[in-house]
Amino acid sequence: MTSFARQISSKVTEAIMPFLDDPRLVRELAYVNGRWINGDRDFAVIDPASNEVIGHCTELRQEQVETAIDAAAAAFPAWRDRLADERAESLMRWYELLLENREDLARLMVLEQGKTMQDARGEISYGASFVRWFAEEARRAYGETIPSHIPGARLMTVREPIGVAALITPWNFPNAMITRKAAAALAIGCSVVVKPASETPFSALALAELAERAGLPRGVFNVVTGEGPKVAAVLCRSDKVRALSFTGSTRVGRLLLEQSAGTVKRCSMELGGNAPFIVLPDMEVEAAAAAAVDAKFQTSGQDCLAANRIFVPREQYEPFLKVFQRRIEQLRVGSGMQEGVDIGPLIFPRAVQKARELVDDALAKGARLLTGDQSRAPGANYFMPTLLADVTPEMQVYREENFCPVAGVLAYDSLEQVIDMANDTEYGLAAYVYGNDMRDVWRLLNGLAFGMVAVNSVKMTGHPIPFGGIKQSGLGREGSRHGFDEYSEIKYYCLGSVNPVTGR
Ligand code: NAP
Repeated sequence: MTSFARQISSKVTEAIMPFLDDPRLVRELAYVNGRWINGDRDFAVIDPASNEVIGHCTELRQEQVETAIDAAAAAFPAWRDRLADERAESLMRWYELLLENREDLARLMVLEQGKTMQDARGEISYGASFVRWFAEEARRAYGETIPSHIPGARLMTVREPIGVAALITPWNFPNAMITRKAAAALAIGCSVVVKPASETPFSALALAELAERAGLPRGVFNVVTGEGPKVAAVLCRSDKVRALSFTGSTRVGRLLLEQSAGTVKRCSMELGGNAPFIVLPDMEVEAAAAAAVDAKFQTSGQDCLAANRIFVPREQYEPFLKVFQRRIEQLRVGSGMQEGVDIGPLIFPRAVQKARELVDDALAKGARLLTGDQSRAPGANYFMPTLLADVTPEMQVYREENFCPVAGVLAYDSLEQVIDMANDTEYGLAAYVYGNDMRDVWRLLNGLAFGMVAVNSVKMTGHPIPFGGIKQSGLGREGSRHGFDEYSEIKYYCLGSVNPVTGR
């Protein structure tokens, strides 16, 4: 086994280590069967704030990904057979280590992902909360007894872990998208192979380091790194992988579903969103605009829950725009490492290009640019928060998941119209409603075709709620008591009578 120092490149030593209290949290190798392993080649990990390389990560070969699956399959029976209490205790140790190392994990995340320290700290706490929740739920993975329709029989179900679960995750929440899946899978008794996004491998590998410290047995938690299409193909096509849980774009989700069809595995998908934010006629403009800023600009707009289309009653339209513009212009843009910053850089130059294209397309089709002077951007990967008024359904900013700090606003004339427009999308993840008249609120709650609807609250996610979308935003739910469904099978027992002749 090579020493820790020899596993770390000089880049990491100079670009990351000085920011961490515990330098052993940063790893550039993959974690398979309790070992840190090297592939053939490396890929660079880049700080979005500076566009500079901060380290490298190894790219595993196909057979090394297969080894990880084999390790997880071999570790599964013993992990499954542990008492729920024992699995819960291991997870609680992992949870405590996540919180103890929160500051380091947050700094590592800011360096590779770009979000602000405040957002990163929030994400570590949010990510850890799933570990605690599912540690507690492990003890309550009940089956049921069923009134019998067969004379003399006793009928019951038990919930069994499904086996090896592959977890493929995105870069925008590099910690919580892993723990939200892994905690559920591990708690019910599955072993996992995690494939993190190539932009943010260090957060995933730090989770592996802490899982090891927490005493998770070898092979139960593995992290494989490398090119998405290559690694995912191995995971999807493997018959040993019995569940695939993916968070990422709808485009890639469709590909993974196709690749998984041959092995008929359980697939859960947390995909893209196009959230409407609907202001009702009785809502105070100031409060609605403040909430819209929060719903739009967190994580620089790179959030599947980000408000993508903001609908305002025509009579409040201009007053709302005025307040919204003022509040957007107060947002401070800069490196996530600087305290007091609200908006960090976008993840990579392509994202800035996409933001420009969205704005150009909208302006060409008649939108008004109220704020968003890009000449003030503090670096190449930054995009100044932008406000577009008079957005229409023909514009990309209305149709596509924006994933950048561009807010599009439009006026509406009736509740019927706004419900139709809000639902006019292939996505169905989340929607926001702001208003006080409960009759209007109920009409929207009934009419909106989204998996999650938040009324007068920007915050809606958390460990106890079933997170997930409908339509092309996904399949299945994460968190809550439903989170186990993606990683378990319901097995039915029919216990016939002792004496088949008498039926007793
Ligand atoms: P992405 O491009 O779909 O990538 C997600 C993961 O898939 C990464 O691990 C990536 O690996 C892998 N991947 C990429 N292309 C692939 C391919 N052709 N075949 C197989 N695997 C592939 O998504 P992203 O840009 O990282 O994340 C943003 C998206 O995630 C947005 O659409 C957002 O809405 C969605 N999201 C949804 C939720 C939710 O809960 N619904 C939460 C967060 C994010 P590489 O990095 O190695 O390419």
